[in-house]
Amino acid sequence: MRVITKIVFIVTLISFWLVSTSLFIPTDNIQICVLTQTKITALMLNTNAGVYKIIADGNLLQKVTPENTIKLFNKVDSVQLIIDDKDYGKYKYIKLSGDNLSELKVKLINPDRKPRIYQNNLSFSSLDGYLKIINEVLLDNYIAGVTEAEAGSRSSLEFYKVQSVLARTFALAHINKHITEGFSLCDQVHCQAYYGKPKDLNTFTAIEATKNLVVVDESLNLIVAAFHSNCGGQTANSEDVWGSRTSYLKSVTDSFSVKMPNSKWERKMLKDDWLSYLKIKHNYPSDKEEGREAAFNFKQDTRKVYLECSTSKVPLKNVRTDLQLKSTYFSISEIGKDSVLFKGKGYGHGLGMCQEGAMRMCKLGYKYVDVLNFYYKNIQLIDLHKLTFFKDE
Ligand SMILES: [Zn+2]
Ligand SMILES: [Zn+2]
Repeated sequence: MRVITKIVFIVTLISFWLVSTSLFIPTDNIQICVLTQTKITALMLNTNAGVYKIIADGNLLQKVTPENTIKLFNKVDSVQLIIDDKDYGKYKYIKLSGDNLSELKVKLINPDRKPRIYQNNLSFSSLDGYLKIINEVLLDNYIAGVTEAEAGSRSSLEFYKVQSVLARTFALAHINKHITEGFSLCDQVHCQAYYGKPKDLNTFTAIEATKNLVVVDESLNLIVAAFHSNCGGQTANSEDVWGSRTSYLKSVTDSFSVKMPNSKWERKMLKDDWLSYLKIKHNYPSDKEEGREAAFNFKQDTRKVYLECSTSKVPLKNVRTDLQLKSTYFSISEIGKDSVLFKGKGYGHGLGMCQEGAMRMCKLGYKYVDVLNFYYKNIQLIDLHKLTFFKDE
C-alpha cells in the first residue's frame, strides 16, 4: 500500500513537472497584431467558416451566423459595434471568439482594402486613434500563413517545409518580442510577414509534415533563423554581417543559387560620386592615387568584409546600406572616363538559408532536412515540446 502511494506520488510529481516545463511554449494559440501597417478607422466582418461569439467588454452579446454582417468603427478610446445595421453601442474591447476551425473575412472600409481571411479569434480595441487588431491564432495556422508570406505562393511542398521549420523556430525564439504591447509578434517583416490564412493549402501539408519541429544549435538553443533571397554563390558568416559569431551561420559555397533570378545585379555610378561618398562617410583617401586605384578596381571572387587600401578599411555592409545595393558581394570596374560599374552577386544579407538556392535544391530532389543542414551548420531538428525538457537536464 505504501509503495503504491509512493508511486502515485512520484507519477503525479513527474506529470506536474512535465506540464510545468512545457508551459513556456505556446503550442496552441499565439497572439499576432495584424494589419499593423494600416491606419484603420472602419472595417467589416463576416464569418467564413465555423461559429463565432461576440464578447464585448467581457460580456457575451450574441452568436454570429454567416448571414450577419458586423461593422466596427474607431471612436475615442472605444470601438463602436454595428450588427446588421443595428447599433450596439461602444466598447473598450470586442472579441470574436471562434473555435479551431473558424475563420473570419475582414474587409477594411477605411482605408479601403481587399478582404483577408483570418483563422480563429480576432479582438479589437482603439489605440491612438485607430483600430488595433489581435489575431489569437493556432500556432500551426500562423506558421502556415508565414510560410506562404515568406516563401511566396506556388512554391514546392518541400520548400514550404524548409520555410515552415524556420518560421516556427523564429516565432518561438521571439515569442516575447512585443510582449510590452500586449501581443507576441507583429505581422510585418520586423517579426515575420503574415497576411492571414494562406491561399496555397500545400502550406498546411508542410506544417503537418514538419509538425512541431524547430532548429536548435549544439547547446539546444533555438537558432536565429536568418534567411535571404539569394547569396550569389556563397553565404556569409554572422560575425561579418552582425558582428557576432555563431556556430551555425557559417559561410558555405552555394552553387545552387548561381543561375536563379536574383543571382546578379549591376549599378553604374559616377566616379566623382563614388569617391566623394567614400571620402565623406569613411574618411577614405579618395584624393590619393592608391585610394582611387583600389576604389575603381575592387574585386571579390569570394566574399570580402572590407574594401581596403593601405590606410583605410571601408565595411562593405555600410556601403550596401548607404547606397542601397542588393548585396555586399560586388566587384567594381571602370567604364569610360567618368564612371564605375558595380557588378553584384545575390540579394540580401547572405546569412543562413538562401531561398533561391534552397528552391533549386528541392527541385533537384533534396529533402528539407538536407537543405537546412546545408545552410545551417552544427544544427539539430527537435520537437518543440522537448525543448525545455532537454535544457533542464
Ligand atoms: Zn514585430
Ligand atoms: Zn545561395
